[in-house]
Amino acid sequence: MLVYLTSAPETRPATVCMERQAVRRAREAFLSGRTRPVEFRLQQLHALQRMITEKETEISTALKQDINRSQYDTPLLELIGIENEIKLAISKLSEWAAPRSVERNLFTLKDEVYVQPEPLGVVLIIGAWNYPWAVTLQPLIGAIAAGNAAVVKPSELSECSSLLLRALLPRYLDKDLYPVVTGGVSETQDLLRLRFDHIFYTGNSTVAKQVMEAAARHLTPLTLELGGKSPCYIDKDCDIRVACRRVTWGKFVNCGQTCIAPDYILCEPCIQGRVVECIRQTLLEFYGADPKCSPDYGRIINQRHFIRILGLMEGYTPVIGGQSDASQRYIAPTVLKDVPPHSRLMQEEIFGPLLPIVTVSDMDDAIRFVNEREKPLALYIFSKDKKAAKRMIEETTSGGVTVNDVLMHYTLSSLPFGGVGQSGMGRYHGKHTFDQLSHHRACLIRSLGMESLNLSRYPPQDRQRARRVKRVLRSSLIDMSKRTFIWAVTATVIGFGLFITLLVILLIAAGLNCTCWYWRGIYNYYW
Ligand code: NAD
Repeated sequence: MLVYLTSAPETRPATVCMERQAVRRAREAFLSGRTRPVEFRLQQLHALQRMITEKETEISTALKQDINRSQYDTPLLELIGIENEIKLAISKLSEWAAPRSVERNLFTLKDEVYVQPEPLGVVLIIGAWNYPWAVTLQPLIGAIAAGNAAVVKPSELSECSSLLLRALLPRYLDKDLYPVVTGGVSETQDLLRLRFDHIFYTGNSTVAKQVMEAAARHLTPLTLELGGKSPCYIDKDCDIRVACRRVTWGKFVNCGQTCIAPDYILCEPCIQGRVVECIRQTLLEFYGADPKCSPDYGRIINQRHFIRILGLMEGYTPVIGGQSDASQRYIAPTVLKDVPPHSRLMQEEIFGPLLPIVTVSDMDDAIRFVNEREKPLALYIFSKDKKAAKRMIEETTSGGVTVNDVLMHYTLSSLPFGGVGQSGMGRYHGKHTFDQLSHHRACLIRSLGMESLNLSRYPPQDRQRARRVKRVLRSSLIDMSKRTFIWAVTATVIGFGLFITLLVILLIAAGLNCTCWYWRGIYNYYW
């Protein structure tokens, strides 16, 4: 049997042993084969669905304590999305897990050819703190659906959520297959020393590099859901009031701590003043005159991030906001205009409630600006000219893109969610999670008959035979794609039709000939 755990020193701290035990139990449970039947996976998904429904209030309370998230926002921003993903997985699982038939070629025409999605084994899910339930449970849904075991490691920064998850999950799901390991950096690093079959990491790109290094030691495939600076271009011809309303919501929800929040605005100088005014009006409407007193406005996760975000503002005079209160880790919704493209604010992901505006001369300049920087996780374009928006999509790249809104592409399970380049690798949501956490096994089932068809590939070869085989292999008939197949059938039918027509013509001609000879005979006889 394969040894899945790396060798360890004789004496190890108790927590390390606990992690090793959790992983070992998950591995053993996986190897028992109980995740293989689709019925088992469905039952676990139903249990997870029950957990979300029954524990909504506890989850919302935990998030209130972690980041002062409004109790109304948690269902809207996290829980409904999770529930919908579970519902989708339950309704589609038999279809997703079924063998997928694929095209055959001339040599496999009589064989069974299909792709069988199968479980990978034990998946490690490492989550971030900003949406601690979504970033751990959404991959978990896919892991369960695909028949894997999964070790869940939530972020230590969202501590209340993390502890609640550890308490709840074993009450609803199989205890051995889906353990929750809590702890911080050292616990995560201990886990990363062990061998997994897939690592699903959500967090920042600096830690992602360490995760990737650890995965490389075991050749473990991984998904990296990272962040970065997601640009938002506002065209001067669009309805600026509506655009700013949508941008203000997407930027300041969860206090700016959203991986796909618009990081900065790009617009022409002629509309900058109007953009600022529209955002100011919207903020007043959303959070009142003092956002600190608004139950809908969040807080920064911890002191470290609080100081980091304030540091980004240094040297600027905000046109909106700028106030802060360290005792509550409160930073007001803040807008900064005419921000130089190479300032510190424009170097790192803000991940907080600061919204810089950088001016560009036109859409082409905006495209250049985006393309000169790392590939973002999301790109937002506000324009009433659909053609121009499509051109901007074509001439840039990003993990995802939404035109005339923000964040909304995340809500569609049919769209793959993930980054590109520095913003991440791999994708998930809906069937994409199932596929990401499955092995797509190539299956070909042949019979032992029709051996004569195989003779040409066996030795000894000679030049003439090799040439003949090459010709056949290069012929378009070899790949029996639907189009080739239809062509072949049509050509055969036409050929056969022509042959029959020719035969009939010949027969008629022969018949006429006979008739001629017959009448000529009669004529000769009587005359
Ligand atoms: P974090 O600090 O909670 O770290 C994430 C996880 O990594 C935690 O479980 C933590 O224990 C672990 N970790 C931290 N340092 C480690 C180390 N040195 N070695 C091993 N493990 C370590 O979260 P974060 O990184 O601050 O998260 C914010 C980032 O995540 C932002 O960049 C954001 O854009 C990104 N994010 C991306 C998505 C997405 O879906 N693409 C979603 C949420 C957040």
